[in-house]
Amino acid sequence: MTKKEAIEYIQRLLNKYGTQRVVVDGYAGDVTEMALDTALDIKPKTEHFSYEEFKCNDGSYPPKRYWDDLQLLMYKLEHLRSLLGDRAITINSGYRSRKYNRKINGAKKSRHMYAEAADIDVEGMSANKVYEAANQIFKRGGVGKYKNFTHVDNRGYHARW
Ligand SMILES: [Zn+2]
Repeated sequence: MTKKEAIEYIQRLLNKYGTQRVVVDGYAGDVTEMALDTALDIKPKTEHFSYEEFKCNDGSYPPKRYWDDLQLLMYKLEHLRSLLGDRAITINSGYRSRKYNRKINGAKKSRHMYAEAADIDVEGMSANKVYEAANQIFKRGGVGKYKNFTHVDNRGYHARW
């Protein structure tokens, strides 16, 4: 990025949100980068996961206020993917709108409504194996074992079922 581009970049940020929205943590780390991405309308993504994959089965997309949480979830899923030997992870269910969550009788406080949960499946790997790996990656999160998929979330504390 040239100096001119950097100035334009920051100007767009300031025009949009003002200075207090830019997190200054002393270096351009993950937190700053996420704040910049959100401010600049850059949708969450990582090397192997896209925003599109996390849309609700009713067609709605994760609202912007949850983008940072979705980004963190994607980082965790990248770690999991790598631990599984770089096998592709399929997102069966990512974000769920409140309406959709009611429709499917989802948990009242389902983390899917905050774009910080995913039900995943890995081709050629049992849900048991995926669970064991997820158990290591989502230490401060939820991991649930089901017959055909594994639930993972970033709730901030350890939960297993
Ligand atoms: Zn789930």
